[in-house]
Amino acid sequence: MRAAGLLVYQVLQKMKEMVAEGVTTMDLEVEAERLIRDAGAKPAFKGYYVPAVGSRFPYVLCTSVNDEIVHGMPSAKRVLKRGDIVSIDTGVQLHGYYGDSAITVPVGEVNGQVQRLLDVTREALERAIDQARPGNRLFDICGAVERYVTENGFSIVREYVGHGIGTQLHEEPQVPNYIERKNENPRLKEGMVLAIEPMVNAGKPGSRLAPDRWTAVTKDGSYAAHFEHCVAITSAGPWVLTRP
Ligand code: MG
Ligand code: MG
Repeated sequence: MRAAGLLVYQVLQKMKEMVAEGVTTMDLEVEAERLIRDAGAKPAFKGYYVPAVGSRFPYVLCTSVNDEIVHGMPSAKRVLKRGDIVSIDTGVQLHGYYGDSAITVPVGEVNGQVQRLLDVTREALERAIDQARPGNRLFDICGAVERYVTENGFSIVREYVGHGIGTQLHEEPQVPNYIERKNENPRLKEGMVLAIEPMVNAGKPGSRLAPDRWTAVTKDGSYAAHFEHCVAITSAGPWVLTRP
């Protein structure tokens, strides 16, 4: 899983370097697929079947711009412009194991409130990662994200959640970015790996599906950010598999 995680990291680093005014989200897609295949890995998202949608996701990346929260589709028509933010999410399968990570990248300079949205979402993920320790419970992770985001005046997206990961892209347990008392709250054990992925709206928490049936967008049109890492729970503390 470390090898898969580092490959995802390298792909996302390259994507971050490429993001600029005039680049299309399809430019990112083409380069990401090349990098993944050249490394001898398989893209985890391309062809991934989601029963609720009733079709297979056609791309290597999810690229979600501005008010798109997650699951946006790369397009040659989506030209990035200064002031945009683009969330780039990708996963790979390497030697039978999965890696999954996401970043949100500003295109040039963004306004102060949008920059704060990125900073708060990234920091919420770090605070959650710090809770990924044996003996803690899942709610310690969920609550760390929820508390930090709401304290900073932003909203948690509730319709999409993080997940366990290993020989499957999505495994038990679900990892919500909020505490819901009726959910399971297992104790965290050495050897578990969780994909923790705060999705945060600058405005209200609601989301809706775009007409393509994949892209989740904010109901109120506010911008959304998404950061994700795969974290292994070890006796030595959290081990983030998707960064060096
Ligand atoms: Mg992901
Ligand atoms: Mg994920």
